[in-house]
Amino acid sequence: MSDEREGSSERASVLTGLARSRMAASLLAVALATPAVSAAERLTVFTGETMGTTFTVKVVDLPRAVDRAGVAQVIEARLADVDGAMSTYREDSELSRFNRSRSTDWVAVSAPTVSVIEAALAVSRLTAGAFDVTVGPLVNLWGFGATPPGRGLPTEAEVRTAMARVGYRYLHTRRAPPGVRKQRAELYVDLSAIAKGFAVDEVARALEDRGIGRYLVEVGGELRAGGLNHDDRPWAVAIEQPRAEIRSLQRLVRLEDKAIATSGDYRRFIEVGGKRYSHTIDPRSGHPVDHRLASVAVIHASALQADALATALMVLGEQDGFALARREGIAALFLLRELDRFVELATPGFPLPGDVTVGNEME
Ligand code: AMP
Ligand code: MG
Repeated sequence: MSDEREGSSERASVLTGLARSRMAASLLAVALATPAVSAAERLTVFTGETMGTTFTVKVVDLPRAVDRAGVAQVIEARLADVDGAMSTYREDSELSRFNRSRSTDWVAVSAPTVSVIEAALAVSRLTAGAFDVTVGPLVNLWGFGATPPGRGLPTEAEVRTAMARVGYRYLHTRRAPPGVRKQRAELYVDLSAIAKGFAVDEVARALEDRGIGRYLVEVGGELRAGGLNHDDRPWAVAIEQPRAEIRSLQRLVRLEDKAIATSGDYRRFIEVGGKRYSHTIDPRSGHPVDHRLASVAVIHASALQADALATALMVLGEQDGFALARREGIAALFLLRELDRFVELATPGFPLPGDVTVGNEME
């Protein structure tokens, strides 16, 4: 990917980190260099690993009164909290305990877990179940989950058995005291499509609580931009071309006080008999989505919403997804695979063409 057009000489370190990502990661933060060296010096960068992927946090003009190590600690603590609560890869997480439980009574979980599940259920209702965090048994069956995959493709009988365990309507939440309840003992919750976005929001909030308003937070490819970048411009974020083999730029968008998330079928897939199977599962068919929609990027004030909606639109596909995005006023960019190129389909709220700023005025 080259950003010479934009005069950029720096590529965010997320590039190498994302290659190791276990989750789909498709947005790259591009730091734009200016002739003045001082612009880069205004940045403080924090990086690390979390939730089976990497994170990068950039802060502009970290106040003198704020201790760098303290900020690093807060970022890592917030991310560890989210991972410790919502990971299906950690046996000791709240979610794993809930998934193991065969009780149909209330199970105590932390308030953030309740709010993430509530947000997920709202997106399930909006999409009539295309987005469904109880899709876990199918995700695992197709080999994309925390449990070791079986060999080859599942049989139709296995798909039907797993489908019988899926249904967001059987998942309930309660705020006081915070808890979740499954109406069917065999329900299994997978928050992979929404938890990274939530983690981004949590880190952003922690920064804002410390008086830091100019930042770029990225977790596993989902991003949120606060204020202006170190060049005093809205943050430039690259939307990748949805290709598995190479990384190249499809679009550059500029964000201010907005989040962007991408869902796609090009980073995480399995290949059997020359055919690719996406990690995005359509709960209505029990099968990985199979259409020419290669990726969806969503811009939203909340990274959690952007993350969930991008996955939801990816399941719904080019027609139903686009119609829903338009109807709901969701800023979305659909990339459709067509022979050797990608066709863009953007809803009116998405900043195309080129270099348009999305700011608060669009909310
Ligand atoms: P994302 O990269 O945010 O699109 O999330 C993809 C992940 O979400 C997959 O790896 C699955 O763990 C999970 N997932 C797959 N299909 C769905 C679905 N229909 N609804 C909710 N989560 C899903
Ligand atoms: Mg998502």
